[in-house]
Amino acid sequence: MTRPTFAYIDIEALRANALWLKQHCLGSKLMCVVKADAYGHDLKLIAPALSNIADGFAVAHCTEGLELRAINPTAPILVLEGTFDAAELNAAYQHDLTVALTNTWQVRDYLARPLDQRPTVWVKVDTGMHRLGLSETELNALCRDNRLPQDTVLFTHFSDADTDAEKTALQLARLTRLGERHKLMMSAANSPACLMHPNTHLDWVRPGYSLYGGSPLAHIEDNLRPVMSVYTRIHSIRSLPVGECVGYGSTWCAERASKIATLPIGYADGYPRSIKSGTKVWLHNQFAPVVGRVSMDLLTIDVTDIPAAKAGDLVEVWGQHMTLHALANHNELSGYEIMARIPKRLPRSSDWLL
Ligand SMILES: *Cc1c(COP(=O)(O)O)cnc(C)c1O
Repeated sequence: MTRPTFAYIDIEALRANALWLKQHCLGSKLMCVVKADAYGHDLKLIAPALSNIADGFAVAHCTEGLELRAINPTAPILVLEGTFDAAELNAAYQHDLTVALTNTWQVRDYLARPLDQRPTVWVKVDTGMHRLGLSETELNALCRDNRLPQDTVLFTHFSDADTDAEKTALQLARLTRLGERHKLMMSAANSPACLMHPNTHLDWVRPGYSLYGGSPLAHIEDNLRPVMSVYTRIHSIRSLPVGECVGYGSTWCAERASKIATLPIGYADGYPRSIKSGTKVWLHNQFAPVVGRVSMDLLTIDVTDIPAAKAGDLVEVWGQHMTLHALANHNELSGYEIMARIPKRLPRSSDWLL
């Protein structure tokens, strides 16, 4: 490694989270959501580690589904957005991907295929998110004349599972009424619903964020361990007299004689440029504040209160101690977005690289 900066992927924590979720949602099958390169964790590391725990996987697009199929030749793989044209639908069929039917043209493409060449489908119904999904009328039309196989799952997605129990209950009621009418298996629960609303678990749960240890719920967080921890080593340290300022725009100036450590990680590695003052990293078993603006490749921290800090010392930028939850919350950012936007530039590894 040239630059001592990487994201450690803790496979043991991942598996513990998946097993905990499975236990917590006992009686439901576990569909592990691994879209967007497993929420930025690297699908190639995540998928094999879950293969004997997950009952299935979900991805966003067919391309992601094919990538996962190459890693796992047999697991059920659901393509959450469905396919974009007839050729893609055919590829999904050839590679045994389960496709979502989320609108009328996807239904038309599906019904246009010969009966014996139709992929397994999950049918999405719009219960209140108003983004994807068939209306009740469209669903009734699709279900006429038994045009769906017995193993079809009817699913929906919650818009407010973490914040609005009433809306969640309404969406659930709309789903279950249709599922019972058409005698289909059902699925609704994303992470917050898995954790907070046991009545939404149904036949399949679909957690993503919580698998990776990102729980928005403080009381449950103990049970979920961060899977990703981003580490680097101090590149260099300099002493600043009072009045000298750090970084682009000189946004932070020393009010006391200060020791500033420079870290070889920046916003081009997914560390948000928009962080507010008071955001911290973890080194020498304590927190130290980020000071000055985040650069593309570098970050500066104030280690005046850590006299032992020196070049080469290990720093946790976020992870075990400086949780992503804390990083996101303090800065009014989304932990989902931080995870999903980590660029390829930041190496991910399940081996310790430093
Ligand atoms: C992303 C996604 C999930 C997982 O949501 P989390 O909040 O990450 O658990 C579940 N279902 C659908 C349809 C999704 O798009």
